[in-house]
Amino acid sequence: TVSEAGVVSAVNKELFIGGKWTPASGNATLEVTDPATGETLCAISDGSPQDGVAALDAAVAAQDEWAAHAPRERGEILRRAYEKLMERQEELALLMTLEMGKPLAEAKGEIAYAAEFFRWFAEEAVRIDGGYAVAPNGTGRFLVTKQPVGPCLLITPWNFPMAMGTRKIGPAIAAGCTMVIKPAEQTPLSMLALAEILAECGLPDGVLNVVTTSDAGGLIEPLIRDGRARKLSFTGSTAVGRKLLEQCAGTVMRTSMELGGNAPFLVFEDADLDAAVDGAMQAKMRNIGEACTAANRFYVHSSVADEFSRKLTERMEGLPIGRGTEDGVVVGPLIDSDAIAKVSELVADAAQRGAKVLTGGATVDGPGNFYQPTVLTGVPWEARMSSEEIFGPVAPISTFETEDEALAAANNTEYGLVGYVYTQDLTRAIRVSERMETGMVGLNQGVVSNAAAPFGGVKQSGLGREGGSVGIDEFLETKYIAIGGL
Ligand code: ADP
Repeated sequence: TVSEAGVVSAVNKELFIGGKWTPASGNATLEVTDPATGETLCAISDGSPQDGVAALDAAVAAQDEWAAHAPRERGEILRRAYEKLMERQEELALLMTLEMGKPLAEAKGEIAYAAEFFRWFAEEAVRIDGGYAVAPNGTGRFLVTKQPVGPCLLITPWNFPMAMGTRKIGPAIAAGCTMVIKPAEQTPLSMLALAEILAECGLPDGVLNVVTTSDAGGLIEPLIRDGRARKLSFTGSTAVGRKLLEQCAGTVMRTSMELGGNAPFLVFEDADLDAAVDGAMQAKMRNIGEACTAANRFYVHSSVADEFSRKLTERMEGLPIGRGTEDGVVVGPLIDSDAIAKVSELVADAAQRGAKVLTGGATVDGPGNFYQPTVLTGVPWEARMSSEEIFGPVAPISTFETEDEALAAANNTEYGLVGYVYTQDLTRAIRVSERMETGMVGLNQGVVSNAAAPFGGVKQSGLGREGGSVGIDEFLETKYIAIGGL
């Protein structure tokens, strides 16, 4: 039996440093809020910059021994944690729903997705390879091997509180790196629960250190400037990512950056329209648009735009809105009042520039941060939502006449994370996918995320890839040993 109060009280609320639960210096605390009610769920430790340094000290102290652990053992810890996450899927999903707002069914889906990264990287831990070659002149030999990059700083966002953690922690553990992780201040409970699970599964003290704080910038910057951490992996906004890259320049720290997106969703005249509407619902409404992969702009061929808009509107209308713990709820709250303000502003801006509201377009009265599922048509290119991330349940539709015009619109952004393409014409599908300036393409598919595939963006959507067979490389250095005397 899992109760709301039960799952919250079961979480350890302190910092996890060197394998010990430790209060923040000065016993400072910060409050975690339920975005569906605005009520406080609990208080947790509010880490100071000194606490951050203590966490880094612990990660640095544990690095050499951890790197020397057998890869199989590292993999088996991950495998056990995968199983434990799945065993405890219900209660972890409830905890996530309480702090983040997403409906229980989606939270359960995220626990499974998060666990998948551990299963995947459990398998990758024992596949770290190298090479041996004869030098071109025949007298020397090349030995190439991979080594863990060293202590890592990991920073995760609130929108996928568990999966964005396991996507970094999994490969770091598999590669033999130690780490300090700082979850988003809005959703720290999932990460605290995860730390406890990893410890139970045999992760040695100091390998994973968790610091929660209300002062992310104040805690992280000194850790970057310190120089002992050798890698930063960040998922969050492009604005913060740019700032962190500047800080990392000071110590030439390696970085992985999963930043913002502005995903175009193209529907050609030869698309299977019902499939396109299904895909649009997934690409837009997974996490109610609070995802960097969320479709942010729909470009639909003028000959099918009316039908597509009508069908999408039918699907968006009447979706059950409410607290994610309630049965049947599909649309939970946005994360906070800032998010509501941003979505409202972007919709007002588009409407003022001539966009037509087919459904929604307003907040929901009462407590909590709720916004109605919204469809807009005739959204002009100069509307702010054409270039800014909406991060909410709003689908802006514009039309196009030619493939070139659609691609030009799709690529007219500083972002390049993912694009969605619906067409049944094979050559067009390949042509458009290749010309899309993004790291990922959803071709007749509304979701691209998969632990076994390389996730990441180009342009200002980021650097590096997470997941897939390249995901572990982000946490490894290549060492080349030149062998002479032969
Ligand atoms: P969002 O707008 O989605 O909250 P952010 O980029 O602000 O995205 O947050 C993503 C993560 O980055 C969170 O864990 C947040 O605490 C952290 N963060 C925010 N500002 C900074 C900063 N200046 N330095 C380091 N981390 C930061």
